[in-house]
Amino acid sequence: MELTAAEVWSRILEEARGVLPEQAFRTWLAPTEAVAISRDLLVVSTPNPFAVDWVEDKYAELLTAIGERAFGRRFRLTVQYHGNGRAPALSATAADAPVPAPPSASPARSQGLATGVRTSSPLNDRYTFDRFVVGNNNQLAAAAAHAVAEAPARAYNPLFIYGGVGLGKTHLMHAIGQVIREREPGKRIIYISSERFTNELVTAIQEGTMGEFRRQFRQIDLLLVDDIQFLEGKERTQEEFFHTFNDLHDGQRQIVLTSDRPPKATGLEDRLVSRFEWGLVTDIKAPDFETRVAILRNKVREDRLEIANEEDVLTLIARHCTSSVREIEGAVIKLLAYASLTRRELNLDLAREALGGVLRGAGGSEGSSSSRLTPDGVRKRVAEAWDVTPEELQSKRRTKNLTIPRQVAMYLIKEAFDLPLVEIGKMFGGRDHSTVIHSISKVEEDIQVNPAFRQRVEALRAAIQ
Ligand code: ADP
Ligand code: MG
Repeated sequence: MELTAAEVWSRILEEARGVLPEQAFRTWLAPTEAVAISRDLLVVSTPNPFAVDWVEDKYAELLTAIGERAFGRRFRLTVQYHGNGRAPALSATAADAPVPAPPSASPARSQGLATGVRTSSPLNDRYTFDRFVVGNNNQLAAAAAHAVAEAPARAYNPLFIYGGVGLGKTHLMHAIGQVIREREPGKRIIYISSERFTNELVTAIQEGTMGEFRRQFRQIDLLLVDDIQFLEGKERTQEEFFHTFNDLHDGQRQIVLTSDRPPKATGLEDRLVSRFEWGLVTDIKAPDFETRVAILRNKVREDRLEIANEEDVLTLIARHCTSSVREIEGAVIKLLAYASLTRRELNLDLAREALGGVLRGAGGSEGSSSSRLTPDGVRKRVAEAWDVTPEELQSKRRTKNLTIPRQVAMYLIKEAFDLPLVEIGKMFGGRDHSTVIHSISKVEEDIQVNPAFRQRVEALRAAIQ
């Protein structure tokens, strides 16, 4: 007997409910409905535009696996948005072509003016200040975001937050929106990615509705534009955005922008860059070990996860997911899925197995220390990459060909092993801990402004892993 889509889906949901945190289940999966089924495809719909990418990114793997176990068939899962309106079909042939989606699967992609009702766009309820863990890496950005939320258009205008992928820029941006929306529900807020802004503009040009477009964007109290770097090379969009910016700013409306790099490095028109610098420019860096653990603890509490030898498991995850918060979240989901599929308790052994793919060390799944690189090994690798010797890195000499790899080596060692700074200093000819701090922050800074350098460091990081 053929099962209907609804039957298959409800069975999958029932099992998913048993393994996912209640809150997550209620937010993302409970409101979904089965739409269609074929041999290998299951289509479901959601009333929440935000859930499209979210469910596909975070839960597809788990849901597919449950389906496979329950029905002996592997369904590809597709999530569609069904709103009260239809999602606008945005085509773009005029003026600026839209840029491809960013490499990271960001939930923000399905947002913006998703229903075509250009008033208030959905903010992710999970992205609140409460849920944002503050650490050394994001302290300033978080404080600035709070200040802006408390005193829109008075504290810093615009607020410009930049940093790498998955470090919490979108989260902070939404948090500002939530506070303002809660305090003054009448305020008109638009959250939009810069790609979406481009698309909307293209549509407006095609349909001859520019007047409308301008009104929409200029009658609001808070404009949140995510990933502004995607406006690079789009002159017409930049021009339009420039006027939108001026109107809002002159009218004392708050503007918040994010980017993966500082204003000057965005490649946008000078007049925009200089405006971005009128307010406050602040960055978010990769979280350090302590912050990673704090983020994990927070997650365990919020999602009410049950983990045996919790400290050890969290330490394991934190040691291995060093690049972003998104990576940490991915690891946790993977672990949950693995536990549910193998029907085992979530403990250290399971974590080692499940995180095989993200564990450092070749071969992955053994997750042991056998193939792990030591701090000395890292120093050696870096020396090789810069064509100097490890001894030279330990020497007192401070020529540029040595200081840069020396700093990089300290940075990577700190990141991978989280040794005390004094220890790291010792490994480099007994340098004191303030020198180590300086070296590490120098690398962090250079990574932000110099893509070639960033690539070099990332390549090394990958090699070390
Ligand atoms: P970005 O916009 O910088 O690429 P996001 O804001 O999308 O990153 O963050 C990626 C994920 O990590 C989100 O799920 C977000 O909630 C989470 N996250 C980022 N920073 C923090 C933090 N400091 N505390 C808790 N969660 C965080
Ligand atoms: Mg983002």
